[in-house]
Amino acid sequence: MNTEKKHKLEITKAKESKIDSVDFNNLSFGRAFTDHMFSCEFKDGKWQVGKITPYEPLTLDPSARVFHYGQAVFEGMKAFKDQDNQVWLFRPEDNFNRINKSAARLAMPEFPKDIFFEGLTELLKLDDAWIKNTKGSAMYIRPFVIATEPAISASPASEYKFMIIMSPAQAYYAGEVRVLIASEYSRATDGGVGFAKAAGNYAAQFYPTSLAHKEGYQQVIWTDSNSHEYLEEAGTMNIFFRINDTLITAPTSDRILDGITRKSVIQLAKDNNIDVEVRPIKVEELVNAAKDGSLKEIFGSGTAAVINPILGFKHKDFKHELPKQEAPYSAFFKEKLNAIQYNLADDPHQWRYKI
Ligand code: PMP
Repeated sequence: MNTEKKHKLEITKAKESKIDSVDFNNLSFGRAFTDHMFSCEFKDGKWQVGKITPYEPLTLDPSARVFHYGQAVFEGMKAFKDQDNQVWLFRPEDNFNRINKSAARLAMPEFPKDIFFEGLTELLKLDDAWIKNTKGSAMYIRPFVIATEPAISASPASEYKFMIIMSPAQAYYAGEVRVLIASEYSRATDGGVGFAKAAGNYAAQFYPTSLAHKEGYQQVIWTDSNSHEYLEEAGTMNIFFRINDTLITAPTSDRILDGITRKSVIQLAKDNNIDVEVRPIKVEELVNAAKDGSLKEIFGSGTAAVINPILGFKHKDFKHELPKQEAPYSAFFKEKLNAIQYNLADDPHQWRYKI
């Protein structure tokens, strides 16, 4: 292997690429990974030199705290290639800030910005061939931090590993999505970790979501844990409701993830003179709007799918199918966001970041 030292980064290139073993026309989300990965260890009270190495399994002590106490946080972001083969990230500083916000909540050390951007940039350059410029293709990027210290005492670790792995993705189609509105289980509570991308938040949703699957609903829309009266967000998406021509979404809080797609949709709505209200919204208001015909659309927003239209919902015994729209807001926002992401439109808010 040929190891060269960069500024603050050690790079060991893979001997050969496994790209030919991947069928880019038939990718399942998050299953294939590129040739390289980035990692950086925290020990002796500081982050060490970042390393890019061939993608490979990790060796961890069975007592590493991540296995016992779930001290782990992650991010999800995407890189896009334009028709001139230039690669762009979308609002990556927001992901960087959010992983540190998540880390702080789980008593993990803050990661340095220069190492994050240097690692990410070099990784994207090395695995550039894996980013396709065909329509809808993107590179899904997964930064994460785990507590690696080998000691099973229930307290924050003194050793961590920060990593970035990357998985090529096609245009994400989540299939037909109908949602169950939670009236029993909760995802997050006041004062809890709902706003953080903490690994355990996702594990805790799997069981209630599997119950929803059995009833024919692909996702759960979580409600506030006190009363189950207010609509909050879905498992990996923020949620928008269109009543007549007004778009409504819940305010972020310590229970809701501050989604980057969500805030981009809110900004785009303002830019395009679409009424948007960020306010608490009750299940009752949604059900009444469904009954009187003023509920036009529900859609989710998130990095993976960008915008995901919802076809119907169930709350307790009430079931509703959304009416078909001639010009859905969901398609409008998806197109606007994609145009900025793929460098096909102006970028008035400087959301694109050049690699
Ligand atoms: N809510 C949750 C719980 C999520 O995991 C995600 C995905 N990161 C989102 C919302 C959407 O956030 P973003 O638009 O930043 O991907």
